Amino acid sequence: MDYNFSECTLCPRMCGADRVNSTGICGCGADIKAAKASLHMWEEPCISVENGSGTVFFSGCTLKCCFCQNHEISHKNFGSNISISQLAEIFLQQQDKGAENINLVSGTHFVPQIISALDIIKHKLSIPVVYNSSGYERIETLKMLNGYIDIYLPDLKYFSSEISKKYSKAENYFKYASRAILEMHRQQPVLKWDGKRLKKGLIIRHLILPHCRHDSIKIIDWINENIPKESFLLSLMSQYTPSYKSCEYPEINRKITTFEYNSVLEKIIEYDFNGFTQDKNSSNEKYIPDFDLSGIPTFFEKK
Ligand code: SF4
Repeated sequence: MDYNFSECTLCPRMCGADRVNSTGICGCGADIKAAKASLHMWEEPCISVENGSGTVFFSGCTLKCCFCQNHEISHKNFGSNISISQLAEIFLQQQDKGAENINLVSGTHFVPQIISALDIIKHKLSIPVVYNSSGYERIETLKMLNGYIDIYLPDLKYFSSEISKKYSKAENYFKYASRAILEMHRQQPVLKWDGKRLKKGLIIRHLILPHCRHDSIKIIDWINENIPKESFLLSLMSQYTPSYKSCEYPEINRKITTFEYNSVLEKIIEYDFNGFTQDKNSSNEKYIPDFDLSGIPTFFEKK
């Protein structure tokens, strides 16, 4: 897909960077960069199912969360440059390995190249394509993906602009993420299943942060007011663990308490949402992959 990478406005940063000769706030130039492609067992049960989700972890990120557990790739941009045809080949290899789906992790800044890669192999692809996102998206970019994505898997991290500015350097996070989620729902308005496998639909993730239970409840209220509950799944995540620069913010330099977790959970029970909740005591480490370039070609084939 043609895109003018010499003046990039793919994400809400709209920094206008010349990614042909330099990099944007996301940390990436015009070549695709990725750090791992593997079968991942720790996504939601309807995504990982039996064989695992075929995750492709892209390097760089448009959001700058101080507590990011994937900071090696998101902030420090670890990864290897690959061509569009190599990315297409990775998708097919994931399918051949038995992946339940292709799971595009933080690919916002590579959407035009992802579309080109899918165009090459879509006639051979029989598994769903999952768009796994921070939620910090422009509607214009999501509209490019219309018809390519079967399952949207966005975070909805913050309601308060003060909190999103402090922890992710994105004062306008909720403004963009809320509109983005409505656009994702417009594209995939109905949950479609094949047994226990989700084939199409929307799963909204929310990670409870320490000292932020009121913000979490505002998010849950907003979802309740704006999206019919039978048409999406909610994934409530409680495994927050201080990471990366959390230590610079003493109030979030701890795990969440049982009280914080239960306050948010009660709201979800009140609204009777469908979805998943995570055991508060489940280990966080198992969710963090080793970013070792496995599944990623380390030679760049320019074509
Ligand atoms: S995707 Fe990267 S370069 Fe493009 S607007 Fe966002 S931060 Fe800037």
